[in-house]
Amino acid sequence: MEETKYKRVILKLSGEALAGDKGFGIDPVVVDSIAQEIKKIREHNIDVAVVVGGGNIWRGLAGSAKGMDRATADYMGMLATVMNSLALQDALEKFGVDTRVQSAIEMRQMAEVYIRRKAIRHLEKGRVVIFGAGTGNPYFSTDTTAALRAAEIEADVILMAKKNTDGVYDSDPKYNPDAKKFDALEYIEILQRGLAVMDSTATSLCMDNEIPLIVFNIDDHSNILKVALGQNIGTVVGG
Ligand code: UDP
Repeated sequence: MEETKYKRVILKLSGEALAGDKGFGIDPVVVDSIAQEIKKIREHNIDVAVVVGGGNIWRGLAGSAKGMDRATADYMGMLATVMNSLALQDALEKFGVDTRVQSAIEMRQMAEVYIRRKAIRHLEKGRVVIFGAGTGNPYFSTDTTAALRAAEIEADVILMAKKNTDGVYDSDPKYNPDAKKFDALEYIEILQRGLAVMDSTATSLCMDNEIPLIVFNIDDHSNILKVALGQNIGTVVGG
């Protein structure tokens, strides 16, 4: 059997990654293309779990900034992640990849409820598991979900797909032409320097549980397979 660097990965897709040119909503053509890359990872026998965000549809903070109750706005955000999860499942199954959506909030007609042991079992059977509805709790993010689920299912690495950037920089390259890209860095530096990689809850969870993370660019979908196969692209955090 092929020896791959990782045996089990968690792919974190922001909601934005599923949107088309307009930057919002779901573009089935884009979702199909991502699904095909995930299929290629499975062909290397690597276990794949996916955490999808919801920012292409709704972000809790945006609602609360305009006066909504934060928890209610966050539940709406979690629902958005379930829509994205179902879209990705649909595409994966169309390409013959067995997939289960596990939702952290019960919606039995659409998805299984999240049960850790069952998720692991699915992965062992070669199914892709998509974790929907985040952690199931308001005030959290899907980055934190990726960290939590990675710890729970003992993933080797979190592959964090980002649009419009190819890794972590010491300052925003959009505004600073001298911004320097890190090939590798430690979680504590993200916290100390306030780098916009992910929120501090997610960062601490990864740091405390020693979960490596790779930030990579998903504007080119073929990077998904490259990073899963251990190619040196993007920025390695805590590795
Ligand atoms: N969310 C939440 N708890 C979670 C995960 C997500 O309340 O555990 C809500 C939150 O409102 C968030 C929205 O779901 O804004 C969408 O998730 P996120 O912003 O992480 O998506 P992304 O930026 O990755 O697209």
